[in-house]
This record gives sequence, C-alpha cells and structure tokens, in this order.
Amino acid sequence: MSKRIIVATGNEGKLKEVREILSELDYEIVSMKEAGVFEDVDETGTTFEENALLKAKAVLNKVNKDDIVIADDSGLEIDYLGGEPGIYSARYLGHDTSYDYKNSEILKKLDGVPDEKRTARFVCAIALVSFDKEVVKRATIEGIIGHEIAGENGFGYDPIFYVPEYGKTTAELNADEKNAISHRGKALRAIREEL
Ligand code: IMP
Repeated sequence: MSKRIIVATGNEGKLKEVREILSELDYEIVSMKEAGVFEDVDETGTTFEENALLKAKAVLNKVNKDDIVIADDSGLEIDYLGGEPGIYSARYLGHDTSYDYKNSEILKKLDGVPDEKRTARFVCAIALVSFDKEVVKRATIEGIIGHEIAGENGFGYDPIFYVPEYGKTTAELNADEKNAISHRGKALRAIREEL
C-alpha cells in the first residue's frame, strides 16, 4: 500500500493543486477531512515558513506514525506598503471583508503611484513533516499591483496582481497557466523533489 500524504488545508482549491502536481508519485493524497482531522491552527508565527510548519506539525500529531503531512502558508507582499499585507494577507483590512473591498482599498492606497514603485510578490512556504523529516520550501512570483481590478479566475488578490511578462493579472490566467508560474506551484514542485 502506498504511503499517505495528508494535506493540511480546508481549501479545496489548494488540495486540487497538490493532487495535480504530486499525481505521478506513488503516494495517496488525503485531505484533512478524509483523514478525520479537524484542526484549526492559530497562525502565530512571524514568517510564512514558521506558520507553514506550525500547521503541518499540529496535524502530524493527530495522524498515523508513518504518514507525511504537508501544509502551506502564503500571502502578498506589496513593496510600497512596506511588505503589507504579508503574513496577514487573509486577515488584512478585516477577516470578514470581501476581496473586492480589500483589492479596491489597495488600489486607492496606490493611487498615483507609478509602475516602478508598484512592485509586489506572492510568497508561498510549504512545509513537509513526518516522523523523521522536516523541510520547508519557499517560492515567489514577482509582479506589480495593477491599476484596476481585472479577471475572474483564481481567488484573493489575483485580480490586482499583474504579471508584466504575460500582460495579464493572475486572475486572467487559467489554472494551468497560473500553476506553471505561481509561488504555490513552484514551492510544490520543490517539495516534490524531497519525496
Ligand atoms: P493562507 O491560506 O493562510 O495561506 O492565506 C493566504 C492568503 O494570501 C489568501 O487568503 C489570499 O488572500 C492570499 N493569497 C495567497 N496566494 C494567493 C494567490 O495565489 N492568489 C491570490 N491571493 C493569494
């Protein structure tokens, strides 16, 4: 029987990406729900890496001894805003505010700021932990904050994250195009090398 990898997320989109990128390996990819684990970890770390490890270790405590757990933490860093929202991306401007609101407010804060000062990046840290292994990989995608909301795909800050090489926001890329260049896609492929 193949070994299990428990994916420590409640986000179906992230789970789908993990399944796609790790599909050719001989592991059974299992969601937390499928593993019967219901864990809501406080993200008290000060870096993406710390938070990814916190989530992965909390879940490792609740699964079988020979399981592997992977967890991620990600966010958007905007240079003009001193790196905000960073590790607070999900909670930025209020936990329950919509991304339409968050994105519009960011565009207002950057109103009149020229492109060369609108640099930003999505960051993703993915932790892989097991009984005898602990590794974290970090990856980024560089872009600039656009001047308007554009695109319907993706989630979160995608409609304002413009990738100059593609002339599009990540919300205007399809899932395959985004996976090929995204912070999460790159970090997952680096983790795949560890398996
Ligand atoms: P996490 O689920 O704790 O990693 O929170 C990540 C937050 O960062 C999300 O809620 C989004 O706000 C933002 N984020 C991370 N990756 C992306 C992405 O690929 N597109 C858009 N927003 C993202």
